[in-house]
Amino acid sequence: MTWTLRRPKRIIMVLCAALLGSELVGSAQVNKQSTEAWISTLNVRLHMHAGLHAPKLVSLSRQRSSPDSWMNTLSETLPASVDVKGLETPIVWQWSPAASSSDAHHVSFVYECAQPHLRLHWMWEARAKFGPVEHRIVVENLSNQELWLPMLNSLSMAWRLKAGAELKNFYVEKGADSPSAEGTHLETIADGYQWIGRSSTYARPIKGEAREIIPAEFVYGTNGSQAGWFAGIEFSGRTRISLSRRKDSLASDLGLNPEPGPFRTRLVAGGKFETPTAFLGLFQGGPDGAGNQLRPWVREVLNNPSAWKDAHYPLLVNNSWGSGMQVDEALSMRMITESKELGLEMFHMDAGWFRGVGDWFSDPKKFPHGLTAIADEAHRQGLRFGIWVDWTQAALDTAPGALNVRDPKVRDWLVTDLPADWKPEEFKGQTIDLGVSAAKDYAAKEVKRIVEDNHLDMLEHDGYLVAQGCTRGDHPHAPPNMSSLKVTHDSGFDFVVASNSTDVSYHAVLAYYDIYAQLRREHPGLLLEICNDGGRMVDFGSAAHGDYFSITDTYDPLSNRRAFYDTSYVLPAAMLESYVEKWPVANLDNFRYMLRSGMMGWTTIMLDTTAWSSQQHAAAKQAFALYKEKLRPLIRDAHLYHVSNRPDGVQWDGVEYWDTARKDGMVFAFRGSTKDEIEHHFLLAGLKEAALYSFHFEDGTTPDGTIIGRELMTTGLTVHLAQPLSSELVFLQELQSNGSAARRIREPGRKR
Ligand SMILES: [Zn+2]
Repeated sequence: MTWTLRRPKRIIMVLCAALLGSELVGSAQVNKQSTEAWISTLNVRLHMHAGLHAPKLVSLSRQRSSPDSWMNTLSETLPASVDVKGLETPIVWQWSPAASSSDAHHVSFVYECAQPHLRLHWMWEARAKFGPVEHRIVVENLSNQELWLPMLNSLSMAWRLKAGAELKNFYVEKGADSPSAEGTHLETIADGYQWIGRSSTYARPIKGEAREIIPAEFVYGTNGSQAGWFAGIEFSGRTRISLSRRKDSLASDLGLNPEPGPFRTRLVAGGKFETPTAFLGLFQGGPDGAGNQLRPWVREVLNNPSAWKDAHYPLLVNNSWGSGMQVDEALSMRMITESKELGLEMFHMDAGWFRGVGDWFSDPKKFPHGLTAIADEAHRQGLRFGIWVDWTQAALDTAPGALNVRDPKVRDWLVTDLPADWKPEEFKGQTIDLGVSAAKDYAAKEVKRIVEDNHLDMLEHDGYLVAQGCTRGDHPHAPPNMSSLKVTHDSGFDFVVASNSTDVSYHAVLAYYDIYAQLRREHPGLLLEICNDGGRMVDFGSAAHGDYFSITDTYDPLSNRRAFYDTSYVLPAAMLESYVEKWPVANLDNFRYMLRSGMMGWTTIMLDTTAWSSQQHAAAKQAFALYKEKLRPLIRDAHLYHVSNRPDGVQWDGVEYWDTARKDGMVFAFRGSTKDEIEHHFLLAGLKEAALYSFHFEDGTTPDGTIIGRELMTTGLTVHLAQPLSSELVFLQELQSNGSAARRIREPGRKR
C-alpha cells in the first residue's frame, strides 16, 4: 500500500498553552482520508489514525483483507505538561498534517505546540519485508529555553478482548550471573492479571525479587493456532514492560522504567528526546512461532550485516579464563598452537593481560613483547585475536594513559565521590558516567586505541558498562532528588540508586551506542562481544550494537543449556555464546555432553586443552569439525524449536534446528542424571507430515534409518542413551513427500 498525506485546504491554527482558556481560533479542515495510515509487513498490518490532539494505533491485523485481530481503544498519551524554570506548564498538542508524512514503510504523524515551541514525531517504520514494525516518539525543543520532559512511554496499548478470551503471557529472563530455576515463564492472563518485567544493564539477582527479563512479551491465545502479538524494547538502559487485564481490556506499556522516579529528562534549547524504540508484530504457533519470526528479523534489521557476511560467524573460540588472571605470553602462545591444532578459530585473551584496571596496556612482566606479538602470532596461524576489556572502569593506577579515580577530571565523571580508602578489585573498578561528553570522548578514543594498538579482531566488554544513578547535579542527566539517593558498595563498585537512575542510564547507553557505532564504521570486520558481567546486558538494543552475547556467568553444562534455552526464544542462536568450563567427566560420554551443552550457539571453550587425554582431544577435534561443517549452518539459518521442557539436569532435554530451505536439520539430545529413563521421545516441529526423513545418529547410539514426518511430530524421535549425563546429535534430512514410500519405514528410532 502507498498513501500520501494530502495538505488540507486550510491551514490549521496551532493550539498552544497560551490559548488555553480562550476561545479556539481556527478549526481543522482535515481530509477524512488523510487522517488514516497503514503500514505492513508479511506478518502484520497496522492501522494508524491522526487525531486532532493525539495519534492512535487503531488495530493490528494479519493482512489487508483479514479482519482486525486486535483493536486498540487507547489514543497515545502525549506529554500533558513540561517543566519550565520549575513551573509546570501545560501543553496542548495539535496535529500538523503539513509536517506529517507516510509511505509503505514509514508513518510519521507530527504534533506541535507553539508555546513553548515543541514538535513531536510519532513514528512507525517497517525495516524488513517480514516481522514486526518499529515505533518511537521524538520530542524536539524548538524554544530557546531549557525544559524538563516527564515520563513518555515508547508504546502504550489497550486491546479490546472478546469476553472470556483465554490468553497467555510468555517472557524469558536473562541468564545474568546464573540462570534461575525457572528462566522461561508462561503465565495465564486472567481477569486482574498484573505483570511488570524490568531490564537494565545490571540484572543483579536479588533474593526474593523477580529476575530481569530480556525486554519482550509474547501474548497469545491458547486455542488453535496459538496466535497473538509480541512487543519488545530495543534499549539497554533501565526499561520496563507492564501488562494487565481487566475483564475485556488488556493494557500494555513499554518504555523507560519510570521508577524510582519521578522521572524527568532535560530538553536543552534546540535539543530532542527520543523514546527507546519498541517493536510490535503478530505471530502464530506459540512462543516458537514468535521466535522463528523474531530471530531472523533481529538478524536482518538489528544486527551488523558484516558479521553475518563472515562465513565463520559464529566462531569457535579458545578463551584463556580457564587459567584465570594468570594469562601470559607463554600460555598465549601455547593456546594459539593448541587452537590451531584443534580447529578453533579465535584466541580470546580474557582478563589478566593488563597493567591494572583502567590502565589498559599490556603488563610488561607477562607480555615482554606486548600483545601485538600475540596478535601477530595468532594471525600467522590463521586465527583471529580478541581481548577482554572493562573500558568504562577507572581505578588507582597512575601510569600515563591510566584512568585514575583521583584525577580531578576523572573524579567529575564518576557517579559518586569515592571514600579515601576505596580500592578496585582484581579486574573491576568504578564505572565512569559515559553520559558526560568528556567521559564519552575519552572512552571513544581509548576503545579505538585498544583495538588498533593490539591488532584486534574482537573486543569483549565486561563490567557494568553504563552507570545507573548518579549523585552529580552538573551532568547532562537530571540531578538526583536527594531524598531518593542511596549509595551502596558491592563487588568493587559503588552503586547509586536515585530518582535519576533511568535518566542516567538513558544518557550513558546512548553514548555507548555512539561509541560502538563509530568503532564499527572505522573497523567494519571487528567483532564485538557483549559480556557485561555475564549475561546482564542481553537485550535488543545491545543486539543492534554488538555481535554476540555472553549469556550467563555460570558455565557448567546445565547452566549453559538453561541460559541458551531461555535466550534462544528471542535472539538469534548465533549470537548466544556459551563458555565451556572445566567440569568433572568420568568418561567420554560425559566429555561430549559437557562440550555439546555449550555448542548450540556461539561456542567458546575455556579449558586447559593440554590436560585432555588423547581420546578427549580426538573427540573435541571431531566435535569442532562437525560444528563447522554441519552445526554452524543450522545455528545461523535454521528455525529453532524447543522440543523439551526447560533443562533441569535430571530429565532429558533437547533443541531442534530445522532449515526449511535446505530441508535439513538436527536435534541436540541431552540425558540428565536420571537413572531410569534410558530412552526419550522428542516431539519434533516444523516438519511436513507426509514427507519422509532420513535420520543419522552421530554417535551411533541408534542405527540410521528413515521416518515419516507425521511420526516425528506425534510419536516423536526416539533417542536411547545408556548413560546418565550423555548426549547425542541426530541429523535429519527430508527425502520426499511420498505417502507410499512412508509405509515401508520402521518405527521411529527403534533399535533393530
Ligand atoms: Zn552522572
